Amino acid sequence: MIDVAIIGGGAAGFFAAINIKMNCPTAKVVILEKTMKTLSKVKVSGGGRCNVTHNCESYSELASNYPRGGKFLKPLFKEFGVTETINWFENNGVRLTTEDDGRMFPLSNTSETIVNLFESKAKSMNIDIDLKSMVTDVISEEDGTFKIHLQDISQPIHAKFIILAAGGMNKNDSGNFLKNFNISTVNGVPSLFTFNIKNEELATLAGVSVERGKIKIAGLKQPYHGPILITHWGLSGPAVLKSSAWYARDLFDKLYQFDCLVSWLPINSEAEALSVLENIFLENPKRQLNNLHVLDLPNRLWQYVLLMAKVDPVKRCMETKKVELNRILENLIRMPFSISGKTTFKEEFVTAGGINLDELNPSEMSLKNYPNIYAIGEMIDVDGVTGGFNFQAAWTTAWFAAQSISRKII
Ligand SMILES: Cc1cc2nc3c(=O)[nH]c(=O)nc-3n(C[C@H](O)[C@H](O)[C@H](O)COP(=O)(O)OP(=O)(O)OC[C@H]3O[C@@H](n4cnc5c(N)ncnc54)[C@H](O)[C@@H]3O)c2cc1C
Repeated sequence: MIDVAIIGGGAAGFFAAINIKMNCPTAKVVILEKTMKTLSKVKVSGGGRCNVTHNCESYSELASNYPRGGKFLKPLFKEFGVTETINWFENNGVRLTTEDDGRMFPLSNTSETIVNLFESKAKSMNIDIDLKSMVTDVISEEDGTFKIHLQDISQPIHAKFIILAAGGMNKNDSGNFLKNFNISTVNGVPSLFTFNIKNEELATLAGVSVERGKIKIAGLKQPYHGPILITHWGLSGPAVLKSSAWYARDLFDKLYQFDCLVSWLPINSEAEALSVLENIFLENPKRQLNNLHVLDLPNRLWQYVLLMAKVDPVKRCMETKKVELNRILENLIRMPFSISGKTTFKEEFVTAGGINLDELNPSEMSLKNYPNIYAIGEMIDVDGVTGGFNFQAAWTTAWFAAQSISRKII
């Protein structure tokens, strides 16, 4: 009989397995992974560098980066948050370093370091890793243990505890093996994606970015601030990704067809933006519009603003009419775009949805109705914005599950 069967050999599954073995070295722990490889996402994460976590001042600030599950995670972060994560990796020989924007990576700057750490720990701790072991069914036995059925393998596995760590749940996949249990789930929809725009003129600006832009999606309340990058297919960058994460469900419902307004300026108020623009015009009366420097706006983007504002770019500032100035202002702070579709963001994408958080005992990560089944990582209805928050949720939830199971085993 296996003590703990972990379904899914990803970040959360490995972190849970290792922490259980740290507390209970003799426990029999097995990771069941449906593919030929474990830790695939860790390997490609953060563009091959693995953005392990995010340097946040407080656990409240950390929790504020989760469009779904922040409230649930907040008390957990108090006990196992960023500091504990940094210490955990450091105690296991991996130092993390912080970038200017707060993202934390292994000092080696490669995800191989994390993969190697997990794999070598699993080996030295005698954690069994069964590849090509897709769980198709879990059955509850009368004595409180579980029978786990695998695809193409006739003999089921018996385990005392199960950890569900099978990642993001879509309509037709992983969660199907839970069909014998009454566990409510929230439908999975994509989060963290970029916006597609059919506009050849805009595409010529691919690579142009602003550091402090703003995006406001039509009909949705909250605008999101941050860097915006023009790509050859539309818009990307943190402000876009934040919008896609916080409004993942609304945008899914809109079938990814919606309008939005973009501000390219690092200024919040319209009055201030107008006064900045008027001053630039007053100070440069004889200069042609296309030669103006408007704050840090890239020149190619400024030319595009003039084009969209339908103002002759060779006109001098002093010849520009008030109505033209207003059109320029409008395109600087509220340039309209029609979004038609989305594109996967290659650095990091996640699924919003999963096991309903109401099903869980938060301080244990066990299911309220099935106390010997645990659920962690992306499989539960928790997801963060880009920047290391999704791995942090995996480490934290896995750590809590490991502590709870360890207490029950000992
Ligand atoms: C390209 C990319 C880059 C990313 N970069 C970052 C980053 O830098 N920082 C960050 O914080 N987040 C990043 N993320 C998000 C992060 O990778 C995930 O949130 C995290 O991996 C979730 O871990 P998990 O263990 O819950 O799920 P997963 O990593 O998805 O692991 C689940 C595992 O379960 C297996 N499985 C599924 N069903 C079954 C079954 N029935 N039987 C057996 N096994 C099964 C899967 O094959 C998989 O190996 C990135 C995501 C992607 C796609």
